[in-house]
Parts: sequence; structure tokens; C-alpha cells
Amino acid sequence: MTTIETTPAAPDTALTSVDPATGEVIATHIVADADAVHAAVAKARTAAATWGTLSFEQRRKHLLRWSTQLVTSSDEFCALIHRENGKPLDDAFLELMLALEHIAWAAKNAKKFLSPKKIYPGVLMSNFAARIEQRPLGVVGVIGPWNYPVYTPNGSIAYALAAGNTVVFKPSEFSTGIGNFLSDAFKKANPELPEGVFETINGFGATGAALVTSGVDKLAFTGSTATGKRIMAAAADTLTPVLLECGGKDAVIVAGDADVKAAADAVAWGATANSGQTCAGVERVYVDRSVSEAFVAEVKRILTDIKPGSGTGASYGPMTMPSQVDIVRRHIEDALKNGGTAVLGGPESVKAPFIEPVVLVDVDESSEAVCEETFGPTITIRTVDSVDEAVELANKSKYGLSSAVYSKKNGLEIARRLRVGATSVNSVLAFAAIAGLPFGGVGESGIGRIHGEPGLREFSRPHAIAVQRFAIPGMALLSYSRTDSTMKLLRKVVPFLHGRHK
Ligand code: NAD
Repeated sequence: MTTIETTPAAPDTALTSVDPATGEVIATHIVADADAVHAAVAKARTAAATWGTLSFEQRRKHLLRWSTQLVTSSDEFCALIHRENGKPLDDAFLELMLALEHIAWAAKNAKKFLSPKKIYPGVLMSNFAARIEQRPLGVVGVIGPWNYPVYTPNGSIAYALAAGNTVVFKPSEFSTGIGNFLSDAFKKANPELPEGVFETINGFGATGAALVTSGVDKLAFTGSTATGKRIMAAAADTLTPVLLECGGKDAVIVAGDADVKAAADAVAWGATANSGQTCAGVERVYVDRSVSEAFVAEVKRILTDIKPGSGTGASYGPMTMPSQVDIVRRHIEDALKNGGTAVLGGPESVKAPFIEPVVLVDVDESSEAVCEETFGPTITIRTVDSVDEAVELANKSKYGLSSAVYSKKNGLEIARRLRVGATSVNSVLAFAAIAGLPFGGVGESGIGRIHGEPGLREFSRPHAIAVQRFAIPGMALLSYSRTDSTMKLLRKVVPFLHGRHK
């Protein structure tokens, strides 16, 4: 671990990690400049020659040993997550548990989904054997956020490693110690592996920017949409492929036939857990008029007892990033200015670094609180007259990360109409806990998928191979020796193969 310091360090050479609840300095980390980033990528490239040629079984063994190491050190790790990120210890443990589920899934399923496949070559190429072989990309750069500092980047790291890539990871400057703990655990669990299979580089945006242009074979980013756009623009220069997991403004639809108590319980938690700093957290609710009054009353009842803090009784922690506090306050004020009503809390709920739950109803749909990611423990609830209206308003967002639907009879049908990457029916955020399901957004929520089979494929490239098993006399299609009689035969065969459907 890094040394404990008492004063903040100069931001160009060192990074100070602080406890967001108290402002106390936890540690300082050396900031990686462009040369250090290039050196880490070079080390990872050398290691890729070993790691990329191991069998799926061998990589599985190393990944599962990493899990065991994380479990063994879970008390220490969760204490660090609590201290550096601010979330309660139980939430830190739940986050670690989800990350472990994903490591296990990626380790155990890589062989199934990435093994070579035989492909039918078609009648005209029947003298060929065709196959697809998935190859690792090489070195994957991962840039992570601070809100789920283990679970979120792990969605790229574990799947990239399982697919045979080495990884250079730049954790958020607000969760540097946590990011380093993750890669140190991998190294501790696998001392016989060469250095560079999973490296961490520390720093601010400039270190991340250097990683984007360092020659990595793919850049997997999780963070804000604004940074995602900058990364995609920078990566375009070298056509470095990007995976972008960005912001959201997730909506929940509560239909007239919903279990109102269950919906209110899930919405109250989904909007405020982790101080609302959840990319796929509940930000907006559209509730049918027939159940609206009961629903709002129940959400208010539940959240009245929910309090932030850093002690053992706290439901959620402080805002991790100080600058986010002003954004949350601005959204609440804007909502109230635009005709909204606060049925619980208001601007006075912002008591930095903590924010108490705020419930806003019937806020104008064009206000910031409805259109922009708030990323705080607030929620907007709008009463609608039909499911159609709810779907239309939910889909109006420029974001499209995930969503939830509460309906006893029509949940699946409503879910299918939503323009998002994932939906939970009669639950919130459930898709994120099922390792086999892909995660990612549409629109300004990002490009590509982590988790599940698509998450493994993101970190491999299909290599198509056609092997000529024997030559068919007179059928040399890919040669100047092709004869007129071959063409005559083809003119008869093609209508039979492709011209018979009315
Ligand atoms: P952020 O965009 O400020 O920072 C994310 C990372 O990018 C950090 O490591 C940062 O140092 C780095 N960075 C900043 N500028 C860079 C640049 N020019 N080039 C390269 N890297 C750069 O985001 P944040 O505040 O850390 O995280 C919160 C955001 O992340 C929210 O918008 C949230 O919705 C989103 N998020 C999305 C998901 C998802 O899976 N879709 C998951 C978690 C968080």
C-alpha cells in the first residue's frame, strides 16, 4: 500500500486520496505521465504474449485464484472502499460480491463462447472447411469511474482478461487506492505470472488521455458522457476501438396494475442508494394516475426514515465527488422553479458532503432535473394518464441506459417498448446482478456491452479462416483458369439456389 500523508500533494506529480466524509487524507499516489503510461502498455504487451497463449482452463484458474484472494482480503478491501468512496460497509461488500460473480462467470464461460466454431461453407464453396476463431485483441486500456469503483471497471477488466487480453487500468482519481487494491490482489494471487497481465496506472484525466492514445488495442471507458465523447474523438486518430459505458437518466414506469408498495420500495432504494450515484439508478418515475397518490405517499413514507452518514447506521454515504453537490442543488432548484413541488426535502436537504433524500413531483419535462443526469439522492415523479404516455416520456431522453417497469400483467410487453440497453420488470437494477446479461446503453449512454457473452466478444476479434480441402475439377472459381463451362453450370445452379422464392 501507499504511504499515508497528512497534506494534499501537487496535482501534476501526485494524487491525494481523501475520505469524502471527513476530507481526511488517506494516501498519496504518484501520477503516471505519458512516458509511464507508455511503459505500462509496453509491459502489458510483453505479458500478452504469455497470457494470450494460455488455455481457457489456465486463465480460468488464475482468475478464480484472484477471486479467492479478494474474498480472503474482503474485510480490508471493504474498509478501504468505505473510506475512499464513502459508501457503507455493507454496500461495499455487496459491490465486491457482484464483481466476484462476474469474475466467475467470465472465467467459466470464456471457453464456451470464444472457442473456435465450424461454419457451413455453402454449396458453392463445399470443398472448403470454414471456421471462426476468436482471438484476444492484445492490450486493453480500462478507464474507470469512482461510483462503483470495483464492480464497474471489473465489467471490462475480468472479461478482457478471460478473453486473453492483458489490461492497463486507470482508476478514477477518487478511487485510486481501490483500483490498486484490485490489481495488487491479482498479482498476489498469481505470483508466477509475468508482470503486466493486469497493471494499474494512477492519475487524473491527463493520464487517462495518455492511455487512450498509447496504442492499446481497445479502450474500455466507464464514466460521464462528456468524457466519453472526448475519448472517442481522441481514439479516432488511431482508429482505436472504444467501449463507452456512460451516463443515464433511467426511468421507472409504474402501471395502473402495479404492486404499488413493491414499486415504491424499489424506487426509494433505486433512487437514493449509493447517494444516488448510480449510473443505472432511478432518476425519473412515470406513474399511472390511478395509483399515483398512493405511490407518492409510500415513497415519501419510506424515504422520510432514510438518512445519509458515515457511521454504521447510515443508509448511504456522502457525495464522493465534491463538485457533484452543486449539480444536485442546481437540479433541485431548477425543478422547483419549473413548476415542480418537493413532497420530501428540497434545497435545504443538501448538507455537503451529505444530501438527504429529495422527492420532486410533476416537474416540467424540459427542466434539468428531468433531462440531465442528477447523480444524487433525488427523484422526479410525474403522473401520467396511460402506459403510452409513460413510454413516450421515458423514451424522450437523450440517454438510454436502463429502466424498470412495474406491472402485474404487462411488464414484459411494456419493457419491449423502451429504448434502453436493459430493463428490470417488477424490480430495479436486477439485470446488473445477473452475470450472463449484457450491460450497456444506447444514445448518449454509450456504445458496446460489458458482461455476459457480448461482454466477452467485446474483447476478442473474430478471425475467419477458409481452408480448401480439395480442388473440384472445372470449378476453380477464384482463378483465371475458370472455364466457360463452369460459368454455364453456375448460371444454371444460381437460379435453383436463389431464384425460386415467390
Ligand atoms: P468522469 O467522466 O469524470 O471520469 C471517468 C474517468 O475518466 C476517470 O478515471 C477520469 O480520470 C477519466 N478521464 C477524465 N477526463 C479524461 C480524458 N480526457 N481522457 C481520458 N480519461 C479521462 O466520470 P466520473 O465522475 O468518474 O463517473 C460518473 C459518471 O460515470 C456518471 O455519468 C455515471 O453515470 C457514469 N457511469 C456509467 C456507468 C455505466 O456502466 N454506464 C457505470 C458507472 C458510472
